[in-house]
Amino acid sequence: MQQQDSRRHIPRTDTLLALPEVAGARSRVAGHVIMSVIRSAQERARAGEISPEEVEAVVVAELAAATTSTQTPVLNATGVVVHTNLGRAPLSPVAVEALILAAGYVDVELDLDTGTRSKRGRGTRAALLAACPAAEEALAVNNGAAALVLATTTLAAGREVVISRGELIEIGAGFRLPDLIASTGARLREVGTTNRTHLHDYAAAIGPDTGCILKVHPSNFRVTGFTSGVSVRELSALSAEHGVPLVVDLGSGLLAPDPVLPDEPDAATTLADGADVITASGDKLLGGPQAGIVLGRAQTVLSMARHPLARAVRMDKLALAALEATLSGPRPPVTDYLHADPARLRERTEALAAAVGGTVVDHDGRVGGGGAPGVPLHACAVRLPEAAARPLRLGSPAVLPRVHDGATLIDLRCVPEADDHHLLQAVRTALRGL
Ligand SMILES: *Cc1c(COP(=O)(O)O)cnc(C)c1O
Repeated sequence: MQQQDSRRHIPRTDTLLALPEVAGARSRVAGHVIMSVIRSAQERARAGEISPEEVEAVVVAELAAATTSTQTPVLNATGVVVHTNLGRAPLSPVAVEALILAAGYVDVELDLDTGTRSKRGRGTRAALLAACPAAEEALAVNNGAAALVLATTTLAAGREVVISRGELIEIGAGFRLPDLIASTGARLREVGTTNRTHLHDYAAAIGPDTGCILKVHPSNFRVTGFTSGVSVRELSALSAEHGVPLVVDLGSGLLAPDPVLPDEPDAATTLADGADVITASGDKLLGGPQAGIVLGRAQTVLSMARHPLARAVRMDKLALAALEATLSGPRPPVTDYLHADPARLRERTEALAAAVGGTVVDHDGRVGGGGAPGVPLHACAVRLPEAAARPLRLGSPAVLPRVHDGATLIDLRCVPEADDHHLLQAVRTALRGL
């Protein structure tokens, strides 16, 4: 009886909607979000979880915290530069700016001079060609997998793709390149063995049914020991001899050699060595948005651009803008983190350790994102109790540390220096709760 009485005191929906804080929330969240916050607070009052008097405060507090995205920004304290679970490459400030400008109406496919339709992504194409002069033509598509699918579909649908058995890789989360290529209607003509493939293996496989030769950079693992592969230069001679295009899937997206990663192939060298086309990801070592980069001979790239499938894998205007800005602007965070000054990293790490009472240990970061496997990025980390990891992840800001060997490790390589004080607060809060 008493409960029924109190239910009568649950604020009515129109009363709650009239609250200034609720009305004000309309500028940030949709009406249906506001209604569901109100209904859930009323439900909880009916169920006796909160008192009718608390409903108003609960609605106001939940709406104040309501956001339109469930994606939470995370400080990456893992030391893994291209962290797939954290969205790979963080964009550079100029790329973020370009992305915001592109969010409105933009002349992505319009010539403002004549007022007629123009070529989509022309600025991005020009930026790619400027960044990689070894290429005659450039095309950007949705992601690296799309670039590869477009290449094999255009060059080898219904025909054979000659590929080494040592390069039939899985790129993550169960996605296998051989399956991806087979899904385009091309047949895989596997040559060699897992550890050794020779030029004569390729030569023996090439015939009238060959659509292209494909070389894939096995970016996320290394075969060591009794191994041999065939270089791009050797393959390009073979491909020229038989008039068969050579496609090289680089994966990670370095446009030029990087001394920090001596074994990571780059677009300029691969094209100079004679590849007809390279494919790569925009959000790995290139440090840009998700994108598939295609660079190479004009005839081959243009035939890909004209294929009907190109329309299904085209890039959106936001990513086009962000990619162009990444290529034309100062070096992106990924490159900065890769080249972080070890002395400065140690200073910052020691300062954090001193402030929170942790110890400094040696720690190797990684390139990540399936790039440069086995290349350690020597640095250091703050060592904390293992139990600190969960409160750090759930804190504000959220911090993702590395959990290893019964400890929580905080590697500052991929934390912007401007965020050091946020990180310090987050670590203090997490440790206080232990
Ligand atoms: C990452 C990768 C891909 C896929 O690129 P996405 O941009 O993730 O679609 C393809 N090939 C190689 C060698 C890769 O490393």
